[in-house]
Amino acid sequence: MSDCIFCKIARGEIPSRKAYEDDLVYAFHDIHPLRPTHILVIPRKHIASLAEVSAADEAILGRMLAVSHKLAAENGSAEGFRAIINTGRIGGQEVPHLHLHIVGGPEPVGPMVSKI
Ligand code: 5GP
Ligand code: ZN
Repeated sequence: MSDCIFCKIARGEIPSRKAYEDDLVYAFHDIHPLRPTHILVIPRKHIASLAEVSAADEAILGRMLAVSHKLAAENGSAEGFRAIINTGRIGGQEVPHLHLHIVGGPEPVGPMVSKI
């Protein structure tokens, strides 16, 4: 997708603070970190959301999860982290390119979902 902000970040057309990259995924620090560690892992391929994946994307999805602990550990959250994929309107997804949030830091992250 030529006009997708995260596709542009993965291609290097919009600057980002890179945390990791390989043939399938690109990871960068969230511009508005919610915790001391807040990294986004995205597929290089444009996939709009977790609701849009196909069986052909299983290697990509696996890679996104497989790199998560190493990224957390390298960025101040070696004792654990939370992996979040917001999906669609109900899930509160704002950017329509699949992304895995890795959230952590020296202190526990807190409740899984904020209490209303
Ligand atoms: P969502 O709410 O879609 O799950 O999360 C989108 C995330 O992308 C937000 O945490 C937001 O701060 C982050 N974000 C949006 N635009 C940019 C950007 O241009 N650069 C970076 N590094 N993060 C972004
Ligand atoms: Zn995209």
